[in-house]
Amino acid sequence: MAEIAIIGGGPSGAMCGEQLARAGHQVNLFDEHLAWEKPCGGGLTHKAIQCFPFLLDNSYPKKLVSSVELISSDDQRAAVEMPHPIVIYSRTVLNGLLLDRAKEAGCHVHRSRVMSVETAAAKPRYCLEGEWREADFLVLAAGARNQLLPGTRPLQRDELEMTQGYFVPETADAITIKFLPHFEGYLWSFPRCDHLSVGICGSMASHTSTELRSHLQTFVEKQNIPTEGAKFYSHVLPSPKERTLSERTVLGKNWALIGDAAAWVDPLTGEGLFYAIRSGELLGKSLAAGCPEKYPAWVKATFSMELEFAARIVRRFYRGSFLGSAVTTRLVQFMRRSPVFRQLMADLMSGTQDYSSLKRRLWGHLGITISEFISSVLCLDRPARARVPGTGSAGD
Ligand SMILES: Cc1cc2nc3c(=O)[nH]c(=O)nc-3n(C[C@H](O)[C@H](O)[C@H](O)COP(=O)(O)OP(=O)(O)OC[C@H]3O[C@@H](n4cnc5c(N)ncnc54)[C@H](O)[C@@H]3O)c2cc1C
Repeated sequence: MAEIAIIGGGPSGAMCGEQLARAGHQVNLFDEHLAWEKPCGGGLTHKAIQCFPFLLDNSYPKKLVSSVELISSDDQRAAVEMPHPIVIYSRTVLNGLLLDRAKEAGCHVHRSRVMSVETAAAKPRYCLEGEWREADFLVLAAGARNQLLPGTRPLQRDELEMTQGYFVPETADAITIKFLPHFEGYLWSFPRCDHLSVGICGSMASHTSTELRSHLQTFVEKQNIPTEGAKFYSHVLPSPKERTLSERTVLGKNWALIGDAAAWVDPLTGEGLFYAIRSGELLGKSLAAGCPEKYPAWVKATFSMELEFAARIVRRFYRGSFLGSAVTTRLVQFMRRSPVFRQLMADLMSGTQDYSSLKRRLWGHLGITISEFISSVLCLDRPARARVPGTGSAGD
């Protein structure tokens, strides 16, 4: 019956609280807002639904969307029907659902802001409204803006994306994704039950907030999305590099990071909800089994290879070119031309095709040009770079 304090009641913290309370621990979860409309698209892919079927099988309001329209930077369009819908929630509803489950499992949920944490002593401490309290273990689930990092470094600018957007009181039946020239990120419109979450994400190291705002404005005007009176938001999103995933510490002797605080987000798509919930579950299970030291290895075995893969190709995907056009433009063109490629993209977007097994699907079913296109984006066609001491690299 260890006493565990969880700081942050978003998807990662709530899932961790549920797991630990079910295992009989005494769990206190603190969130300054509890269930709130955290800036987010709110989209859950099929891999999240497969792993956590309760995210679909419940009576909480949500929207199931199977159609996606991709728009290239030069305004060519391709539509795709996904084999499994993206399940889109308002974040107030999704956070509420996960917190309700944590409470039902016996987790004590408090609306409070944790001001600071201290982990040097054997028992970690956290400060609530000027009063220090002790626990046996601290779970840091306070998201991407989290400043409570006892034994690890904060994320740097190139490991973060800036996001801006609007909640617009309109409805639609398809997701829209728009690419921009020489831009590391994209614009989106995600339809929810009674409104749209429309926004833009872009690398914080490469783009300014003025640039993002201007692209967002052009997008809503071109898409005829009325933003007068709509609520504007901005937030940060982790965008891990290979070094983030391989070097940044996420576990200490009496604390651990989960979700966005640990930077478990796909840097190519910005998908973070699945990784937040999954990492909360994995930490909860490792703590419940009395072996928190296994948490990083379990994350590695479960999903961090996918994130590493995305981190390796993200720059080439958004900035690269293939046969004289931007990779994202070729992607839209190939989707229009090839039903097999369209199917592949539908599977990737709905989360039924992972990056790691993409190579196997490449040759054979797709035409040569498209196979070469994908190989080039995934950097599969490059010769291995052998280091020759003192002479730089050979094999280029
Ligand atoms: C604009 C945008 C769009 C996105 N769209 C999608 C999408 O469509 N699909 C997807 O999968 N992912 C999306 N993401 C990513 C997703 O939102 C995150 O990965 C996810 O919310 C991470 O969950 P979390 O529990 O780790 O953190 P959060 O959801 O950020 O939760 C952290 C919680 O901690 C609380 N908190 C912070 N500091 C303190 C403190 N000191 N004391 C007490 N409480 C504190 C906050 O109130 C918050 O509730 C998007 C992100 C952004 C910014």
